Amino acid sequence: MNFRSENLKIIWVFAHLLYKFLPLDKRKSFLLSSLNRNFCTFAHKNKKMEIKKAEFTLSAPMVSMCPKDTKPEYAFIGRSNVGKSSLINMLTNNRKLAKTSATPGKTLLINHFIINNEWYLVDLPGYGYAKRSKKEINRLEQMIQGYILQREQLVNVFVLIDVRLEAQKIDLEFIQWLGESSIPFAIVFTKADKLTANKVNASVEAYKKVLSETWEELPPMFVTSSEKKQGRDEVLDYIEQINKEIANG
Ligand code: GDP
Repeated sequence: MNFRSENLKIIWVFAHLLYKFLPLDKRKSFLLSSLNRNFCTFAHKNKKMEIKKAEFTLSAPMVSMCPKDTKPEYAFIGRSNVGKSSLINMLTNNRKLAKTSATPGKTLLINHFIINNEWYLVDLPGYGYAKRSKKEINRLEQMIQGYILQREQLVNVFVLIDVRLEAQKIDLEFIQWLGESSIPFAIVFTKADKLTANKVNASVEAYKKVLSETWEELPPMFVTSSEKKQGRDEVLDYIEQINKEIANG
């Protein structure tokens, strides 16, 4: 176990201890406020993260086959077609890093990409797969759940939401599950270029309203467009900040 993962573990153990002593109705808000606030002290004065190197590492069909490494991991997930591959390619400045949904096979595995030799970007399969058999859906769900629940070095899950759509049950259920499983997450709205700025704002506000019905505090949110490279600095700054917190203990 290296220094970073030791630090990560201490943060988690501490957070979980505090969490245990909270009454049930306060736990959700603790999760979002404490974990996310700890990791979410934005430092826009900091130098922006540069992506110097982004390389595919491996595709794993189950968590036990993921890289034997302890560097922090950031997972990206959303319904198929939400714009996940485009976002990953936009963030890493590489038009071909993540395969788009048009490429069968790759999108059904846990895909690891090593960034700047410092952290992993993890591309998880899209959920809400309409044309798949029950067996296949079960396998994918187990794979995703296994990764999210068991991967100790997973620091944050980015849940992608198409900004044009009203809150969808499947996304809300997934977010609920993340919270109940004590997994820190942030929301990334995609395809912002497809709406006017006013409509994007209205859509984000509507989403916040829906989440506020269940959560006392809201997770970090990012508005992005892969077409316009919007939101890139903000998402990368967020990751950079968490990486620094982990490195500094
Ligand atoms: P995935 O299935 O979630 O990986 O989604 P893809 O990245 O393959 O994108 C699905 C479709 O949405 C493709 O036709 C993309 O060109 C389009 N798309 C993705 N992101 C954006 C965006 O930011 N703006 C626009 N206008 N289209 C996008």
